[in-house]
Amino acid sequence: MRIGFGYDVHSFVEGRELFLGGIRIPHEKGLLGHSDGDVLMHAISDALLGAMAEGDIGLLFPDTDPSIKGIDSRKILNSVLQIVRERRFTIANVDAVLVCEAPRVASFRDSIRESLAQTMALTIDRISVKGKTSEGLGFVGRREAIEAYAVCLLEG
Ligand code: MG
Repeated sequence: MRIGFGYDVHSFVEGRELFLGGIRIPHEKGLLGHSDGDVLMHAISDALLGAMAEGDIGLLFPDTDPSIKGIDSRKILNSVLQIVRERRFTIANVDAVLVCEAPRVASFRDSIRESLAQTMALTIDRISVKGKTSEGLGFVGRREAIEAYAVCLLEG
């Protein structure tokens, strides 16, 4: 068995749509990024890569590559899942935390879990997504960004 951990942070900006876990979330701002800015998918992808000691998504998808500008982060996760399959691992579970003051994660938690379960070909009971605020502290508290943390367990 292998455990993996991933972290990511993206800044809120005006004029972009917000994507979390592969779905669009209604919000007045989106996340800045070379990709669609899906901070949760990035953290989960890095957790999976970390469990396999396969580096990180910055190596697989460098933000200097113009051909992937605006890439759907589901493609990033799918590339990582391909490595998981090639290495003959299976995913036991994923547990993730989104840290933001807004939007409130509780209102779309299960939609995100369903989206991730579908992308990862897992049952929804193997995907946990939790929401926390930072109690108004720091850059997250000032509503400048969303942070995501994820752990995963791989079997095989
Ligand atoms: Mg990222």
